Amino acid sequence: MVFELTDVSLLQSGALIDGKVCESISGSRVDVIDPATSKIIGSVPEMNGEDSRKAIAAAETALATWRTTTATVRSKHLHAWHRHVTDSAEDLAQLITAECGKPLSESRGEVAYAASFLEWYAEEAKRAYGDIIPPHQEDKRLLVIRQPIGVAAAITPWNFPAAMILRKVAAALAAGCTMVVKPAPQTPLTALALHVLADRSGLPPGVLNTITGSIDSSRQIGSAICESPTVRAISFTGSTAAGVSLAQQAAGTVKKVSLELGGNASFIVFDDANIEEAVQGALAAKFRNSGQTCVCANRFFVQSGVHDRFVKLFTAAVAQLRVGPGSEPDVTVGPLIDDRAYEKVRGIVADALACGAQVTIGGSQDSMEGRFFPPTVLTSANPQMRLATEEIFGPVAPVFKFETEEEVLQLANHTEFGLASYFYSQDINRCFRVAEAIECGMVGINTGMLSTAVAPFGGVKNSGVGREGGKYGLDEYQELKYICLGGVH
Ligand code: NAP
Repeated sequence: MVFELTDVSLLQSGALIDGKVCESISGSRVDVIDPATSKIIGSVPEMNGEDSRKAIAAAETALATWRTTTATVRSKHLHAWHRHVTDSAEDLAQLITAECGKPLSESRGEVAYAASFLEWYAEEAKRAYGDIIPPHQEDKRLLVIRQPIGVAAAITPWNFPAAMILRKVAAALAAGCTMVVKPAPQTPLTALALHVLADRSGLPPGVLNTITGSIDSSRQIGSAICESPTVRAISFTGSTAAGVSLAQQAAGTVKKVSLELGGNASFIVFDDANIEEAVQGALAAKFRNSGQTCVCANRFFVQSGVHDRFVKLFTAAVAQLRVGPGSEPDVTVGPLIDDRAYEKVRGIVADALACGAQVTIGGSQDSMEGRFFPPTVLTSANPQMRLATEEIFGPVAPVFKFETEEEVLQLANHTEFGLASYFYSQDINRCFRVAEAIECGMVGINTGMLSTAVAPFGGVKNSGVGREGGKYGLDEYQELKYICLGGVH
């Protein structure tokens, strides 16, 4: 076994619907694989559309009571769940590393980040204020109240097996919605462990329902969720192609759709930047989770005056990274999630080399066994390369050289995506100018890490619609209702 849990009851191998452990109706199961070793570490039910409808029905039944509970009660449930997650942080981190591959230190960080959404929305539940509007006629009184949208569904990716779930579920439950969650087929064990902890914190049956599937059955689950008139909101995190498909399927039942999709983040280093800090920021923005995050820096633009110095220091810093199984101490870069991901990154690097890129460290020639891709820095990157327009989703940092602010803004915005961007500058005027001109949902200035439960996370253009986190995250799960009281004397 690649992991040992202090609390073995967290290792759940059945789906959880209506407070009960369930097999799939078909009886089939699907294996969970450790990406570092390709070994089987568990299995879960391979559910499909029929199972999804069962989970939706359970959520609908539970909704009748949950939506009428007071915000104070919902808050207490979320606080209790937060305590259980925090108490089981080490076991959850072990599970994340085992099925997603990221280094244990990162998994621990993810658990803390994921738990912070429970705490944040436990508080926000109590602040879902409405409005009283000055009336347009003397005998009228106008109010706006917020109500839970109803049954909501979450479909999440494998790269943050805990955080992507709690970011959605905490907000939905706080708003008074019940939920069906479908974790990625690669990482269901973390999702089920989180659910076990929710049950332990006293969450009523059916408020949360976790269904598991395989890559083959995901589409049926997605269709059942999208086509269900009972599901009033769907929140998806994943690729743009999958998000578009789900939004199209959901259109027939006019549900609210929140999409957190792919990115192509620019990381700009201006001549006036603190280069040492920019290098540290670049490491954090690029190599976390082996470059497999939606907010990963995808394109590094470095101004000509500091280009050579930045590349030298960045290359030296990358040389210090240690590649290996995430469960080993001191490893900072784990494996890619699967063979398909590995081949994609290899193809992107080969294309860049064929188009004139130079390797300062890493590259395909350093290829390692299994799904481990060497941390790579490429220079002489240009817009013709695939990496200029595609999400690399691997530990590869291509550096483009630029001359002027105007030029780099054009380059940075020349993408269909608009999730995150980063830049380093010590000129306060430039900081505001560039932050306002960059087309994206989130900007990190002089930092390579911007995610937090207290701020809105989300993108523009093909990176999605809607926001998660902060006070804005509740909006995705609420309807506004306008009440007009007439005849007031
Ligand atoms: P993906 O292929 O779109 O899949 C994401 C999840 O959705 C998986 O569990 C997948 O299951 C499921 N899925 C896809 N199509 C579905 C459908 N029609 N019905 C039901 N489920 C469906 O993305 P990925 O490769 O796993 O994840 C990486 C992508 O996610 C990247 O583009 C990354 O940028 C993006 N991402 C975005 C954010 C954000 O907040 N913006 C955060 C993390 C990741 P199957 O694997 O079985 O298809």
